[in-house]
Amino acid sequence: MNPDLEKLVRLHHVDSDLKRVESDLAAIPRLRQEIDDRLGRDRSHLEAAKAALEGSQKARKQNEASVQDLETKRSKYKGQLMEVKTNREYTAVLHEIEGVERDIKAREDVILEEMEKAEALGQDVKREEADFKAVEADAKKEKADLDARTATLGAEAQRLGKERDEVAASVPEESLALYRRVAKQRGTGVAEAREGMCQSCHVRMRVQIWVEVRKNDQIFQCESCSRIVFYDPPPPTVTALP
Ligand SMILES: [Zn+2]
Repeated sequence: MNPDLEKLVRLHHVDSDLKRVESDLAAIPRLRQEIDDRLGRDRSHLEAAKAALEGSQKARKQNEASVQDLETKRSKYKGQLMEVKTNREYTAVLHEIEGVERDIKAREDVILEEMEKAEALGQDVKREEADFKAVEADAKKEKADLDARTATLGAEAQRLGKERDEVAASVPEESLALYRRVAKQRGTGVAEAREGMCQSCHVRMRVQIWVEVRKNDQIFQCESCSRIVFYDPPPPTVTALP
């Protein structure tokens, strides 16, 4: 193969590898964000479960305080019962006591309900806590993997960048300028030609050009996409011995 063409092909491979590594690296912050988003969602589930439990406990305490107040009220009425002078007064105070007791009963029912509710909500909190712990452990591991991946890809990008500079420095200025011009315009500067066709733009070459391209001894550009084309002959077939 023409040595300059060979270098350009190598430059093309290194550039492609570098581009892939750089795009993998660029994807990492998004992957990290996805982990944080998942963690955030699970944390909010846990917080919602805790808030529901606290709400129930608070309702229970409020009702317990009310029951205490009502009991004080009832004792006061019972004291009054001893001091009343008339039957009418007696009936009225008794009526008040009945009302307070109804109120106490209603609040005690609510307290029981809230106790049952709190038990179920406590289970929810426990479950959400376990879920969150598992997700948190996964996230930690995934982030450590991403850190390792970042380091590997960073080293790879550095190595490829150095290799690209070395190869580029060995290519004659004119060929390198052509390669860069096409690469800038098309995304890639070199294309493989196979079966008479440019494998990047898929346009068939003229027969006489294809004949020349196959020789790999000059720098040819695809007439359609301008990429520098090369031919990679298939490996020689080994005939099995009888
Ligand atoms: Zn082409």
